[in-house]
Amino acid sequence: VCSRLPHVGTTIFSVMSALATECQAVNLGQGFPDFDCDPRLLDAVEAALRAGHNQYPPMPGVPALRQALARKTEALYGRRYDPEHEITVTAGATQAIFSAILAVVQPGDEVIVLEPCYDSYVPNIELAGALPVRVPLGADFRPDFDALAAAIGPRTRALLINSPHNPSGRVWQQADMLRLQALLAGTEVILISDEVYEHMVYDGQPHQSAARFADLAARALVVSSFGKTFHVTGWKVGSVLAPAPLMAEFRKVHQFNVFTVNTPMQHALAAYLHDPAPYLQLPDFYAAKRDRFRAGLARTRFGLLPCEGSYFQCVDYSALAVPERDLEPDAFCRWLTRAVGVAAIPLSAFYAQPPAAQRLIRFCFAKQEATLDAALARLARL
Ligand code: PMP
Ligand code: GLN
Repeated sequence: VCSRLPHVGTTIFSVMSALATECQAVNLGQGFPDFDCDPRLLDAVEAALRAGHNQYPPMPGVPALRQALARKTEALYGRRYDPEHEITVTAGATQAIFSAILAVVQPGDEVIVLEPCYDSYVPNIELAGALPVRVPLGADFRPDFDALAAAIGPRTRALLINSPHNPSGRVWQQADMLRLQALLAGTEVILISDEVYEHMVYDGQPHQSAARFADLAARALVVSSFGKTFHVTGWKVGSVLAPAPLMAEFRKVHQFNVFTVNTPMQHALAAYLHDPAPYLQLPDFYAAKRDRFRAGLARTRFGLLPCEGSYFQCVDYSALAVPERDLEPDAFCRWLTRAVGVAAIPLSAFYAQPPAAQRLIRFCFAKQEATLDAALARLARL
């Protein structure tokens, strides 16, 4: 078979979850909660199903959900998106990002990603016939604006950013967004801002959505995921916000990609969004898990990296005594799963060419306390 993606295998998240199951390991690899969502959200689904919301919704999504998103975005980020022309409900952030790239990129265009980056971006760009340009993030995974400025040229069509960042947990500051805005001024670059962890920013910091910055918002497709925010990753419902001309192009692709997203879940989410408490409480909810997990890890030989946002904690394992053949991050994660019974994700999976000496892995702490404690007990033996 002539492969469209010759260098791509099965995504690391599937691989590590399968290995975790096989080894009966505590799965802190793939990013998903091991607890259920709010029962009120389940009640809202049942009500939607019983109310007969079981046929195609309008192509851009159930109006009540788009209206709820417009209210929420205006309240949080101070920008009004028109639900009719500027908001679309997607099959998770994954489809939103892929459709966004297909909608704005022509074959031969360059699209910039900041490495390490989420594993779907580069294959999406390649499937669009465009050229991925990988710009490394700077020290401590902060944006490197000099490197970014050097990478932007006449063929640059789009730039993908992601804050809070998967895998590092780094969060962009207001000053970063203002620098980005200044850097893009006078260019035609379209910004695809992956904000799936928008409600997981800790220590009292605000989330710096691209929607907050007029000149960024004017060129941006802002992507989010209800799966992340409401502990329902399996529902695969997300959203895109964009100015009307950009959104019109997005919808041309979306309508022939999935056309629409399942109706009862959209009605349930619309009803549930009336109460802002669930997402406003999310930083406290996850910060408690982060702090518990970090406190436990601090008693091991893993080196802790900062975690400002997302539900990921990265650690350095170079101080551990590890069999020589298992030193590389990918091999280390397999060894950790098999020999220690804890699954993690190697940061190398987020790079084309991982830095040779990097010894970093990512744990997901969106887990019940008992799960985190069970993993910590195993890791403490190392
Ligand atoms: N972007 C990032 C940075 C992610 O971590 C994920 C994984 N949830 C996605 C996009 C995809 O989100 P979804 O599950 O809504 O497709
Ligand atoms: N986004 C999640 C992660 O980074 C997993 C998504 C997936 O399995 N594709 O772990």
